[in-house]
Amino acid sequence: MAIERFDVAVVGLGALGSGAAYQAAVKGAKVIGFEQFELGHVRGASHDTSRIVRTSYGSPEFVALARSAYKDWAELERRSGLQMLNITGGVVLMPRGGPTPSSDFTKSLDANGVPYELLDSTEINKRWPGFKVPDNVDAVYTADTGIAHASKSVTTMQYQARANGAVLREKTRVDRVTPDADGVVIETSNGPVRAGKVIIAADAWINKLLKPLGVEIPLTVMQEQITYFKPKDPARYDPERFPVWIWAGETWFYGFPTYGEPTIKAGQDAQQNIMSPDDRTFVQSPELVKKLTSFMDTIIPEHGQELRTVTCQYALTPDRQFIISPLPNHPDIIIALGNGHAFKFAPAIGRVVAELAIDGKTTDDISKFPIQNALSTSKL
Ligand SMILES: Cc1cc2nc3c(=O)[nH]c(=O)nc-3n(C[C@H](O)[C@H](O)[C@H](O)COP(=O)(O)OP(=O)(O)OC[C@H]3O[C@@H](n4cnc5c(N)ncnc54)[C@H](O)[C@@H]3O)c2cc1C
Repeated sequence: MAIERFDVAVVGLGALGSGAAYQAAVKGAKVIGFEQFELGHVRGASHDTSRIVRTSYGSPEFVALARSAYKDWAELERRSGLQMLNITGGVVLMPRGGPTPSSDFTKSLDANGVPYELLDSTEINKRWPGFKVPDNVDAVYTADTGIAHASKSVTTMQYQARANGAVLREKTRVDRVTPDADGVVIETSNGPVRAGKVIIAADAWINKLLKPLGVEIPLTVMQEQITYFKPKDPARYDPERFPVWIWAGETWFYGFPTYGEPTIKAGQDAQQNIMSPDDRTFVQSPELVKKLTSFMDTIIPEHGQELRTVTCQYALTPDRQFIISPLPNHPDIIIALGNGHAFKFAPAIGRVVAELAIDGKTTDDISKFPIQNALSTSKL
């Protein structure tokens, strides 16, 4: 019996794969997407409530892609009639003499024409009384920073993919992708299909599919955790009155105003709680909660008691650069890997890989995101 044939197959339906399936379906391609677990599961990186959206980055290539992404978010909101983004404004807080000078951010924002304000700690604490930021901290404030609703966004992209004709198969694991002269054969736990192009958005699991193709991305997988605190005076942290924040010190932390409930969420970036996706515990680390709480005491002392801690997953290459790239030896296979900071770009990365798959080119500048940069020992 002939196996089913699609124009584009997407492996993994977290934020990036759902974005790719949605955008490829909107472009009119015959699309199939595979997710090894249930749609909306919490074992990857794309669940729970909030993710930061911002153009404020220290590298111009991310500012440019983020600007594109805001247009894709707006288009998703238009198509679905649902609001994905809450724009609150946001600060990146940088201790003077620390590893990240504010000029990294101001230069890349300037290069992209994004407006910002430079603030000192007196101004920060005056403008947002929820903060008690110590002296000698500079902040870059950008008005376009805000919050994407994580699980709602992923579900909406999946729904929009299906509404535009995509077939999404959950609880279907892709075991192997084999390119040949006629596209790619995709072997799954529910039988094979064939596609002209395959987009792999498998994040922490990606090397399982790449290794048989002679490619291995140097990835460190870690369990991350974020904590919801319940302040005594939640009104002080209302999104109308309190910004999204990032602390860019020796260690990076980040946090949100209240969002959907009277709590403020905060986390540490790249906690080094290293484990593979298969032996992930989902058990929070009390030491990491303590570390976060001690940090919160220094800038948001009225954060209140810890209410709950949720675990998540990072899959990081050493330079944390995105990989948005065909495999050089197998150009029908396209990789989308977000290196622990890609949610804000999901509908844009989805569009870019859909364009690469369907048109063979994209108008966004992805020259800084080839797979070659990440590869050290593979046999490409
Ligand atoms: C705590 C935390 C906070 C974050 N905060 C932010 C933020 O504020 N802003 C921001 O922009 N980003 C943030 N990120 C990063 C962002 O959430 C991730 O970059 C993004 O969600 C990754 O999406 P993904 O689809 O690549 O990965 P995932 O969501 O992990 O999806 C990959 C999917 O592929 C599936 N899969 C894998 N292998 C197979 C296979 N063989 N067959 C079928 N399916 C397969 C998996 O089951 C999974 O569903 C955060 C991440 C975490 C963990």
